Amino acid sequence: MITHGECGKTWTGLRRAHCPACHETFNSDSAAERHRVGKPGIDRRCVDPASVGLIPIEQPWGTCWQAPGTDLRFTAGVTDEAA
Ligand SMILES: [Zn+2]
Ligand SMILES: [Zn+2]
Repeated sequence: MITHGECGKTWTGLRRAHCPACHETFNSDSAAERHRVGKPGIDRRCVDPASVGLIPIEQPWGTCWQAPGTDLRFTAGVTDEAA
């Protein structure tokens, strides 16, 4: 279990990405990348993850945003064997 001291949110999984700006938790760096728009150092900012097509997955520790499709195999309960 990982806890972010600034917001107190917790999550599990080494692949997760937690945004230090808006404090949403994402399934992976690539999913987190989707909720950021603009150019780094110029107008880089966060947008609502839902507005860029990310899906909120309810985990025991909170909401984990993930991209539809490729990331789904990391969803709890969905395994490669079942695919
Ligand atoms: Zn963010
Ligand atoms: Zn945080």
